[in-house]
Amino acid sequence: MSKSWRAIAAIAVLLIPSLFSSADQSQAAGPRKAAKPKPRLSLPEKCEPRKLRIVVDVGHTADSYGALSARNDPEFGFNFRLASLIAAKLKSEGFAATRLLVTDGKARPSLFKRVSVANESRADLFLSIHHDSVPDKLLETWEFDGAKSYFSDRFSGHSLFVSQQNPHFVTSLMLARMIGRQLKEQGLRYASQYTLPVMGRHRRQLLDKDVGVYRYDGLVVLSRTRSAAVLLEAGSIINRDEEMEMNSPERQEAVAGAVAGALREFCERR
Ligand SMILES: [Zn+2]
Repeated sequence: MSKSWRAIAAIAVLLIPSLFSSADQSQAAGPRKAAKPKPRLSLPEKCEPRKLRIVVDVGHTADSYGALSARNDPEFGFNFRLASLIAAKLKSEGFAATRLLVTDGKARPSLFKRVSVANESRADLFLSIHHDSVPDKLLETWEFDGAKSYFSDRFSGHSLFVSQQNPHFVTSLMLARMIGRQLKEQGLRYASQYTLPVMGRHRRQLLDKDVGVYRYDGLVVLSRTRSAAVLLEAGSIINRDEEMEMNSPERQEAVAGAVAGALREFCERR
């Protein structure tokens, strides 16, 4: 499994320079070639879907794959599949400047890499796609495929995170709320455990208790991006039932549809 994901990621990483080539060319044009891209102070007055530069970030890398599911599949694979579907859906709905961002290498440098790619390509919106697990102390053991494996069926659901340190916190929160509302309309319930003491250092402030938006200032991809940024934990893969759901085309379509619906609303409101 991880070998094939590594191959896919390697191909995607090779594609990245060409994915961002239009932005690079505009940077390179004219005498101010060496100038650093300026931070975007705000989104354009009028929102044109085809011009909205949306970066859909695949959480983690093939080498540093994030969480392991109850059935021992790496989170990176789940993130890659769902983020690809979301990016394709957005493009098919007219958000032509949407880019899928796949990063390689070790965990921490990869975070700064994705932020610099997003900033240099002058993204308008940054959406990072992840799948959730639980703190180690909550893990229970079971046998899957003849191997001792870990799970926790205690919690399930998606969650959304924004950082108050992001220069566009208000816009980030607005977009996160729109995604949360769309997910709710699809009949999905958000993960409410992040307010509980059992979450320890993973405890977060709940900013929207209706649709499940939390504040997470410490996340590099949310606080260092110059554009508005939202992180979506699409569901729990350490929960044995929800892992199966996250693998189903129905759930994947529901999430991609919710994100696309939220972006349509986001654009119309501007
Ligand atoms: Zn993750």
